[in-house]
Amino acid sequence: MRYSVDNDRLLQSFLKLTSFDSESYGEREVGEYVTAELKKLGLQVRTDTTDAGFLERHPGSYPNIYAVLPGTGEKKDEEPLLLAAHLDTVSPGRGKKAAVHGDGTITSDGTTVLGADDAAGIASILEALASAIEKGLSHPDIEVLITPAEETFCEGSEHFDYSLLRSKKAIVLDLDGPVGTAANTAPTILSLDIEIIGRAAHAGFAPEDGINALSIAVEALSGLPVGRLASGSTVNFGTIEGGTGKNIVPGRVRITGEVRSHDHSEALRRRDEIFARFEETAKKHGAKAVCGGKEHIRAYLVDEDAAIVKHFYRAAAAVGAEPGALRKTYGGSDANRLNEHGIESLVAACAMENVHTTAERTNIKELAGAAELTLALIAE
Ligand SMILES: [Zn+2]
Repeated sequence: MRYSVDNDRLLQSFLKLTSFDSESYGEREVGEYVTAELKKLGLQVRTDTTDAGFLERHPGSYPNIYAVLPGTGEKKDEEPLLLAAHLDTVSPGRGKKAAVHGDGTITSDGTTVLGADDAAGIASILEALASAIEKGLSHPDIEVLITPAEETFCEGSEHFDYSLLRSKKAIVLDLDGPVGTAANTAPTILSLDIEIIGRAAHAGFAPEDGINALSIAVEALSGLPVGRLASGSTVNFGTIEGGTGKNIVPGRVRITGEVRSHDHSEALRRRDEIFARFEETAKKHGAKAVCGGKEHIRAYLVDEDAAIVKHFYRAAAAVGAEPGALRKTYGGSDANRLNEHGIESLVAACAMENVHTTAERTNIKELAGAAELTLALIAE
């Protein structure tokens, strides 16, 4: 078959990739390994970051890996394509031991994640590149971007020099679900960090002197919708901490949370409403609310007629993958950053299930399907 891959080499590559401890900010070993593999395949590889302080802050991390496989054959001068994946895993990800079961399923030993997120993406890319070269398939320039610290709101790809990229379209291999499906829209994610500053006082001797920051926080929170809203946006308050003792009126309380929305302006509007509610409630009681947070990633929607969507469907059809409908994801990925930089990007399913849990799994057949699809993306 035109897009068959070396299943045994793919499996060994996947197992090798998952054998590294590579939680976010600890990607150095796996980064060195992937860089060496790309060089072995003859690609031109660069590792650099636009944030000189990133590796000082995170000495166990690794820069973004950018590599190019030059085009060849009749497709040599066609539009280049970018393939992307990430190096890091979530925790618990130290001491991972992948187990291959008789039915082809691959799991961890139950104490850690497996790391298919995103070893499956990297293994698919490495195997597809190796197969394209071996088979002498004609293809345009293929750019590869492998990022660190994706699981921490895509911090690695925040510090990439996008002027290096020539591709106008990209596939990010980093999604669960059956191979052949892809997400064309992902949300804006805003974090919330709110501090209520009241006044501490002794709860028995002088409660009149205090301003209870905890009561203010509860009053503000009680008027705010949480969970999935009618618009599809989500709001969560995740932590609350503060106070110093049972007999002290709490002078400070800190609340963190997040807002997600596929509509960027709605996310901003929701956040501003939340901030206003805390500020007004605090003011009413003579306290102050200091509201902050960060825009982690920005929402995108790739049009169903976009070139990258047609390209993806063509490749999926070529390998007989179920032509899944495009779907929404509520998580961010490096596709958010790429789309923000004007590169039309989909996130494609690449053989991972139950991600971010110790029940994470994949199987040999799905892995092969993901690698074959990646090969078809290169050559179709
Ligand atoms: Zn991932």
